[in-house]
This record gives sequence, structure tokens and C-alpha cells, in this order.
Amino acid sequence: MTKRKTGKDYRKELSELNSKERILKAAVNQRLLELTKAYPDIDLPTSRAGGLKCKDIAHPWIIQETNIDAVIEYIEAIEQHLANVHPHKQSAIEFPDRDCISDKSPDGKHQYEGDSKHCTHCGFNKNYF
Ligand SMILES: [Zn+2]
Repeated sequence: MTKRKTGKDYRKELSELNSKERILKAAVNQRLLELTKAYPDIDLPTSRAGGLKCKDIAHPWIIQETNIDAVIEYIEAIEQHLANVHPHKQSAIEFPDRDCISDKSPDGKHQYEGDSKHCTHCGFNKNYF
């Protein structure tokens, strides 16, 4: 028979779970921050009048104050948008800094004209980090 858990055991388990949750939330928030900076003009699901674009929430303090379920919903919406536009360019979604999601890019790399920080093909913002 297993030993009955003590209050101390439960406290330790709960503390470990809370710690894991904090680490997961930080990773999820970081992912949304990267995606919103990489794709500033993608629309996000919202009931807000006038809509909501990635660039509207592309700041650590805004994302930190956003409910974790909404953060995941936004990530899914961005992934879905990118997958719909270019279903065969999954790697570009994984590595937005390296690969262009636009079929107009001749070599699959982002193209920047003059001083523009946005890719002329897909709108990727090269200063997103
Ligand atoms: Zn591009």
C-alpha cells in the first residue's frame, strides 16, 4: 500500500505544478509576442469594434495581461491564417525570421526594399525581436 500523502506533500506538489504553469505561460506569451511582431497586420479574433491586429497587442506588457486562453486562441488564429495562405510553407511559420511565406519570393527569403523593415512580399517585420 502506498503511504498516505501529508499536507507537506500536497504543498510541494502544488508548488511544483504552479511553477510548471508559470514556465508554460511564459513560453506561450513569448510565442505570441514573436508571432505578433513577425506578422503585425494579421487580424485577430475579437469582439472589439474596429477589429484587432497583431500589432495592437505586440508588446510584452499587453500580452502578460491577456488571459492565457485568449493568448492561445490568438496563436491558433495566426497559425491558421498563415496555413490558409501558404499551406505548404509550414517551415516559414516555425522560422518566420528566415523564411518568407509568400510565393512571390523567388528564393523563399524575405526581400527588403531600401530602408523598409517589412518584407515586400509577406509583410514580415525584420525587427521583431
Ligand atoms: Zn517575406
